[in-house]
Amino acid sequence: MTPAPAADRTWVFDVDGCLIDSLTGTSLRPGAASVLDHLRGGGHRLLLWSAGGAEYALRRAAAQAIEHLFHGFHDKASRDGAGRYEVHALGVDIGTAVFVDDRPEDMPVGADVIAVRPYLAHSPHDRGLDVVARRAGMATLVP
Ligand SMILES: [Mg+2]
Repeated sequence: MTPAPAADRTWVFDVDGCLIDSLTGTSLRPGAASVLDHLRGGGHRLLLWSAGGAEYALRRAAAQAIEHLFHGFHDKASRDGAGRYEVHALGVDIGTAVFVDDRPEDMPVGADVIAVRPYLAHSPHDRGLDVVARRAGMATLVP
């Protein structure tokens, strides 16, 4: 896929196993706040979605004090016939959105997906978001 330009993209982030550990749900992945802050500062629109629902996504973000960085919270409510999540409720243009997820196989066909390694448990040296930082135009990821 073509790298995103400097701004005007919608970035859609997954919660569990992506930004927050999937085991306890209490550990923010290293670098998450830096990447989100960088993208927001660059004029991007940031959404957080989860199979646990919009309220769950907001709650998890608030627990990590990153909720102010998002423009919206959504449910991964419905899947298509192939089992991939549908995005009509997000109000995003699939052609200009970037999805960040540890389950890229669940993302819509044709979507620009950045697959991250699953963040399973608290790990202060995890570098799984490096790939996102690079796409976001950051020189280095500073946790
Ligand atoms: Mg996930």
